[in-house]
Amino acid sequence: MSKNSSISSSETAPPPHLDLATLRALGAAAPAQDCEACVPLRQPGWESLPAGFDHRSLLCIGNLATPARDGDEENATEPTTREYHPQGTHLWSERAPIAPRHAPYNRSQLWQSRCCGRLFLRYTEYGGYYQDERIRWFDPGLLVDDGC
Ligand SMILES: [Zn+2]
Repeated sequence: MSKNSSISSSETAPPPHLDLATLRALGAAAPAQDCEACVPLRQPGWESLPAGFDHRSLLCIGNLATPARDGDEENATEPTTREYHPQGTHLWSERAPIAPRHAPYNRSQLWQSRCCGRLFLRYTEYGGYYQDERIRWFDPGLLVDDGC
């Protein structure tokens, strides 16, 4: 009767891949109301993560990137840097589609507020001399099937 008979690997395992159907379902289940911790994140388009924001209020629940197959990491292709804007939007547009197979969504993670359950996308932009953590509210209405 040992108390620690099984060691959970869930804390060290990478977040699961979220396909389009899963993203749609998560988006549909997310609350419309946000909480106080999420107020600074109420951004319809990408924004830099506000300085001083408490990261602990968000929990990473999955990855939009297509995972490398087991044992095939060396042959994994780099995610495309192309963006998807069929309606003439741009990266920072509030109405830019959320296209999971295009940049920057293909290297984003889905995060959830621990208190209200609201969903956000996050990725890190690596510039030559800077790193920028970016965040965008996950609006399921903007989610598109952008093919392969
Ligand atoms: Zn919240």
